[in-house]
Amino acid sequence: MISDKLEIDKTWTLFLDRDGVINTLQHNDYVKTWENFEWIPGVKPSLAYLASLFKHIIVITNQQGVGKQLMTEQDLEIIHTNMVNEITKAGGRIDHVFAATALLANDVEQMRKPGTKMLELAKEKFPTINFAKSVVIGDSESDMIMGQKMGTWTVLCNNKNEDIQADFRINSLMDCIHLFKF
Ligand SMILES: [Mg+2]
Repeated sequence: MISDKLEIDKTWTLFLDRDGVINTLQHNDYVKTWENFEWIPGVKPSLAYLASLFKHIIVITNQQGVGKQLMTEQDLEIIHTNMVNEITKAGGRIDHVFAATALLANDVEQMRKPGTKMLELAKEKFPTINFAKSVVIGDSESDMIMGQKMGTWTVLCNNKNEDIQADFRINSLMDCIHLFKF
């Protein structure tokens, strides 16, 4: 149960992690093809609901499998095109997907979370983004740290680790129905 609610309005931005929030984690592997992409139950109707609350909904994802040459940029693009199309068909909306694909050692721009470069690129693309009026939902500490560095609100999803600092905790995107007040 969520005791507190976060008060938002339609100028706010939602930043969503992908693996572990939208689709299930692959055991010790990357989602390399659309066939491997498994929706977490309830995500599509939850995103349809969230589409009515937020001005921008942006996916921010680390995909080092590309840098490791386990998959190509094109493989990743196909997955994201299909993902966004299915979300749209279900009444939801993803305005943009930012993916950090470089190998950790080559990530000079600090694209990879907990680096903040993808948030900065999002603000370049959508200049009305205000990080104080933004929410990051992710299942990893790196998602929370990225958000904290830029002053967003943070929501830890699907992670029981009490050592991870976050403003709110939810079990899945379906809990968002209790999280936001508007
Ligand atoms: Mg994740």
